[in-house]
Amino acid sequence: MTPLLGEYYQSAHGPIPVPTTERGASACREVVEALASGHYRLESRPCLCGSDTARIVARVDRYRLPFPTVLCLRCGLLRTDPRLDADSTEDFYKTHYRRIYERAGHSMSSLYDVQGALAKGRFRFARRHLGALDGMRVLEIGCGGGWNLLPFADAGCAVRGYDYDEEYLHEGSKRGLDLRMGGLSAALAANEKADLILLSHVLEHFLDPQETLHQIRSLLTDKGVLFVEVPNLFAIRDRLMRSLQGVHTYTFVPRTLERLMNRAGWGRVALNPVIQSLWRPASAREPAPWPVDESLARETQRFLLRWQDAHPLLSRMRAVGERLGAAAATIGLLD
Ligand SMILES: [Zn+2]
Repeated sequence: MTPLLGEYYQSAHGPIPVPTTERGASACREVVEALASGHYRLESRPCLCGSDTARIVARVDRYRLPFPTVLCLRCGLLRTDPRLDADSTEDFYKTHYRRIYERAGHSMSSLYDVQGALAKGRFRFARRHLGALDGMRVLEIGCGGGWNLLPFADAGCAVRGYDYDEEYLHEGSKRGLDLRMGGLSAALAANEKADLILLSHVLEHFLDPQETLHQIRSLLTDKGVLFVEVPNLFAIRDRLMRSLQGVHTYTFVPRTLERLMNRAGWGRVALNPVIQSLWRPASAREPAPWPVDESLARETQRFLLRWQDAHPLLSRMRAVGERLGAAAATIGLLD
């Protein structure tokens, strides 16, 4: 069956929407070989709502790796299905992830410039909703080089980060940050306690986000708050296929993220349209149910069809047109 988005999203052969370096291309080939040899194993899981009624959106991801994206017709959540199982996922992050995702010509200092600008936005969002932050203990899981922690450290917070990437950890340490090897399990083993925990572009990678969100509660102090940022599908205004990544177990919109958080026992403090959000442990004893939302499934389907890049040039022209239209509306040329 042809995927919802058509032939362009069907095959491992064809233009790759996100160019990789030579190292990245060879890492992609290794992933395909590992799947063919059985070294990497795939598993199929139902949606977080429990349903396995789904429509195939694309059969390959943005590197044309054979990781299909499917849309749950019961609740509108997108997921990668089938996906790598837990052991294969761990090996993938250790062996292939960084090589596939690195960009040619990007130096470490330019990475800190680009990420630093985004980090300031996250810091301002937290300060706007939480008030003065000085004296807070801030903990980040999946901190990379610690760029998100720098503005918090500058504001007088005690910061600590965990990540698996040795080179990033080393760079962050050179900048005076307390960064440690490992992920959530290392933070749990170290009995960390924080007033603010940061999960920035991390939650969408977890195989079992609900369980992970349960575990994170024990890292928070009594009045602690969790910051979550994930990509918002509905905020995409560029080539859609760039956003389809096999490593993203789930792709959220604000409504589906809130459902997951509520189900995992978190109540919203703030949530903005680019899905920067803050949450506190909720007092309710029963986890919130995951409601049927076929209208969101239809809305998501319409959005995907509107932004599909059947032809890259056509898609780019459409994106430019949208931006011009938005700019004209902003300066009052259009009603
Ligand atoms: Zn669902």
